Amino acid sequence: MISDENFIKNPNVPGPTKEEIRCLVMCKSQVKPKDVVVDIGSGTGGLTVEFAKRAKIVYSIDKNPAAIIITKSNLEIHEVSNKVHIIQGTAPEVLFDIPKFDILMIGGSSGELSSIIKEGYKKLRDGGRIVVTSILIETRVEAVKTLLSLGLNPDVVDVSISKGRIMERGTLMIANNPVTIITAFKLK
Ligand code: SAH
Repeated sequence: MISDENFIKNPNVPGPTKEEIRCLVMCKSQVKPKDVVVDIGSGTGGLTVEFAKRAKIVYSIDKNPAAIIITKSNLEIHEVSNKVHIIQGTAPEVLFDIPKFDILMIGGSSGELSSIIKEGYKKLRDGGRIVVTSILIETRVEAVKTLLSLGLNPDVVDVSISKGRIMERGTLMIANNPVTIITAFKLK
């Protein structure tokens, strides 16, 4: 896993998703070398880079041009540009132009989560996975409801991580914002 400091950042673009969360997303998505991945909301490229290191091909999508630029830089420094198609566009519309895939990663949805899940599900291969990372309670509820409406069985994990800051008088634990990771499998 790449440490957070090893990503180029732009103060106007969110991300990268923190290392420990990236780690859990890789685990929950069960990404494999033959997988085609769609990462909606590439942001800084944190998850796109990690998927690119493990999957066959990644379609990395963001509506924000600044996110596209920073994602490209991070793909270059981590030497995985050849595995990634970068698309500037807005989901769910952008999904219509992409072939079928094994993993739908949703890290940003700006009010469109339900339709992104539903449109994405149509293009998800059997045995495929949908993974949503959520920092808003509204998104968590919408993700669970939509996945249930598709007859899926979502796995919901709330992740609260504190990291130690080494100081002269001891190690002070500093809490990160909680993130919920919601995962669902499309049956084979
Ligand atoms: N996982 C990323 C961070 C994601 S931040 C990382 O590790 O770096 C969320 C991103 O989702 C933002 O850059 C935002 O522009 C994008 N986004 C939000 N809604 C979107 C939509 N409907 N279509 C495409 N991109 C979207």
